[in-house]
Amino acid sequence: MQILLIAEHDAEFRLIERLLKNVEDSPYLLTWCQADVLALAATQVSAYKAIIWGRISDPEISKALLSELKRQQIDIPVIAISDQYPPGADRDAIKRGESDILLRSSLTGQLLERSINFVCSRLIPLHKNIESLNADPLTGLSNRQEFRDKLARILADAKSPESVGLLLVDVDQFKKVNASYGQGAGDALIQLIAARIRNCLSEDQHAARIGGNEFAVVFQNGSESVEEQCRNCVEQIIQAMAKPFPVAQHAIRMHVSVGIALNKEVEITVDVLLANADMAMRIAKGEKGNNYQFYTQNMTKAAQKILKLESEIRRGIRNEEFELFYQPRIDLASNQIVGAEGLVRWNHPTRGLLPPAEFISVAEESGLIVPLGYWVIHQACKDLNVLSELGHHQVQLAVNVSFRQFQDKNFVQTVANILGNQGITEGRLEFELTETTMMIEGHAVDQSLRRLNELGIDISLDDFGTGYSSFAHIQRLPISVLKIDRSFVGSVISNEDDATIVKAIISLAHSLNMQVIAEGAETAEQVNFLSENSCDQVQGYFYSKPVTFSSVKNLLSHSELLTNNINASITH
Ligand code: C2E
Ligand code: CA
Ligand code: CA
Repeated sequence: MQILLIAEHDAEFRLIERLLKNVEDSPYLLTWCQADVLALAATQVSAYKAIIWGRISDPEISKALLSELKRQQIDIPVIAISDQYPPGADRDAIKRGESDILLRSSLTGQLLERSINFVCSRLIPLHKNIESLNADPLTGLSNRQEFRDKLARILADAKSPESVGLLLVDVDQFKKVNASYGQGAGDALIQLIAARIRNCLSEDQHAARIGGNEFAVVFQNGSESVEEQCRNCVEQIIQAMAKPFPVAQHAIRMHVSVGIALNKEVEITVDVLLANADMAMRIAKGEKGNNYQFYTQNMTKAAQKILKLESEIRRGIRNEEFELFYQPRIDLASNQIVGAEGLVRWNHPTRGLLPPAEFISVAEESGLIVPLGYWVIHQACKDLNVLSELGHHQVQLAVNVSFRQFQDKNFVQTVANILGNQGITEGRLEFELTETTMMIEGHAVDQSLRRLNELGIDISLDDFGTGYSSFAHIQRLPISVLKIDRSFVGSVISNEDDATIVKAIISLAHSLNMQVIAEGAETAEQVNFLSENSCDQVQGYFYSKPVTFSSVKNLLSHSELLTNNINASITH
């Protein structure tokens, strides 16, 4: 009876050999294989009845050996010799794929013999155990490591481009399920989703759960091209998700975003293929709700462009390449400039003056809007002090604040420090937030807004009419100004519905004791309409585009310089 010993040192071999020889009528023939993968690969492992797993100090080597055994599809039971035998050791051993575990200090020939008989009679196939180790316990699908190994093997065997396809399925908004219904419900949902995904696959296709809410399937060329297989499968998966999931006595609707990547080159690595599918998945996610995307090289180019822009923004902040322009706000009753909105510009060293559309969204996604936003607030405070020195004590400056800035837990404190350092008094600085920002993570933003308000900052609701804030919510917040979005203002003359909406917004704001500012007024007719309907202030190209701070100072001292002289251009 051939027994294989895998161990680091020959002392262990000599010990086990001696013990086995001492057994009565010893039928055992012991072979020693050093604990290295190459030696094991070269050994005819299948000839052995049992494997004794000796001392292997490096767990990485241990893992590599186990996966080599698995690669050879070995069904031979393994007996591990261990220095300790803590509680739960058996269970751990089984999980690792071992059939029995013996304590080194009490090792005898008899004990070894009994163990060998025991494991051979029971014959728990090693790879089955390893499989359960490699399975995701919640869904029974392969886990991430197992999937990566499998994908690596498939890619290594791939002979032609576009012969392997990887599908990455991400469950949208999964965290919300956990947060609203508890983790038990989240787990149940994952099981149901896994089952539906499995139902979309044929016998020889396997899904894996490679992250909390992420599944993967790999396809190989068959009678259908991988591209066709991926497309068919993803369409089935999306269809399967359409029905609500019965979880925690609710019918929950879930969406998935799917990214698909093919091995465009034969020499692609697991990491690159996974990263490509991930990138495609993220773009699908941006499109909201049950979407899929095939990875293209342009996606990488776009991602690289974003990365480059990110590092340029970082440098720009350091080198003070940003500049705060201002667009005056005109009070319709007094025809005076009563304030201005700060709008950031970037003096890019090679691309010239860039508008916010070129960089704000990247700054938001990367978090760089946090330092940039502090710079903007700081600059506005400095400019307020300059205005005060010039005698414009009443002029208010507004800055835009995006949702991402509220995620900085020091936001309110840092703003308080800036105000304190600059000696800014109540009512001079205003923060403009969009409806969406006010609705996001309601509570945290609510609290910060109250504290900012206590610091003397006025809050205005920007782009009003385009978002979905609830009336009740707005009423609870310390908002003093409502800014009508320019998409309505631009069509008050041409579109009766928009005229009605603008009138309704003005009366709504007044009923809540808020001031109303109309944005984007470009013509005298629009300004007239707004004036006649009791709008408080107007901001738009009709009076002035956003201009440098020094131009604002000039305009404040010589209001006749406004592009359209206020009194002259309004026709009553
Ligand atoms: P916003 O806050 O809605 O700013 C108003 C935008 O409308 C400005 O664009 C302004 O130039 C433009 N505008 C004003 N009057 C008119 C008009 O009569 N006609 C037309 N067609 N457009 C008009 P800008 O400066 O390109 O800014 C775009 C957006 O970038 C801003 O929209 C704001 O959301 C964002 N932004 C600008 N500066 C900052 C900043 O410092 N921080 C943050 N987070 N966002 C900023
Ligand atoms: Ca604004
Ligand atoms: Ca706006």
